[in-house]
Amino acid sequence: RQVHRQFKVGFETVNALDGVDLDIRRGEFFGITGPSGSGKSTMLYLVGGMDRPTAGRIEVIGQDISQMDENQLAAFRRTMVGFVYQSFHLIPTMTALQNVEFPMIFSQVPRKERRERAAELLEKIGLGNRMQHKPTEMSGGQRQRVAIARALTNHPEVLLADEPTGNLDSRSGAEVVELLHELIKTQGVTVLIVSHDPAVIASTTRHIQLQDGQIQHSES
Ligand code: ATP
Ligand code: MG
Repeated sequence: RQVHRQFKVGFETVNALDGVDLDIRRGEFFGITGPSGSGKSTMLYLVGGMDRPTAGRIEVIGQDISQMDENQLAAFRRTMVGFVYQSFHLIPTMTALQNVEFPMIFSQVPRKERRERAAELLEKIGLGNRMQHKPTEMSGGQRQRVAIARALTNHPEVLLADEPTGNLDSRSGAEVVELLHELIKTQGVTVLIVSHDPAVIASTTRHIQLQDGQIQHSES
């Protein structure tokens, strides 16, 4: 609701988000597009509790995250949100299985359960035969699917994806989008996806276009 995020850099103030007012429904595949610097990543960080608004209120799954203290916000991030990046951010020395297991170490899931859940997630996204591969031994599309599996380890309600197909050829990109659609259907997650790609945006259930931190255009 009426979300603002200002950044002060030296003497300049940047309105990264300027009065964004928006309702996203559960189970939506929601697209965010717009030129570089228009506030897309800022919006994802705010929804994911990785940044705070300068003014305004943000509610995610019925929780007013703008009112939370740091501990509550950290717990919110850990239990409710998964994040997927353009450049995958996998750990190069670890296998696919170890990469997916990794965040569960921090949420103190016992080792055996960790391994089982990671294997199960990789099976589910069609990489059951790549578990022992390291990132350099996989294609871009496979790496991004490993990153998606990793983002799902904590059973998030919301999956935030910042240009997840930006480094992929169009076929692997389409596969990643297909996987996200499937996760909405089977896991009941809500997906917010930032993309410059008209084909990706066309596959969303609804999207907005940002320009200078404001909603320029929205479409159902
Ligand atoms: P891109 O498509 O290039 O990723 P974007 O739409 O994701 O762009 P944002 O990263 O959200 O854009 O940035 C929006 C505006 O806020 C930009 O003008 C940017 O320079 C500014 N900005 C973002 N983060 C910070 C920060 N931590 N400190 C200062 N300014 C910032
Ligand atoms: Mg960005």
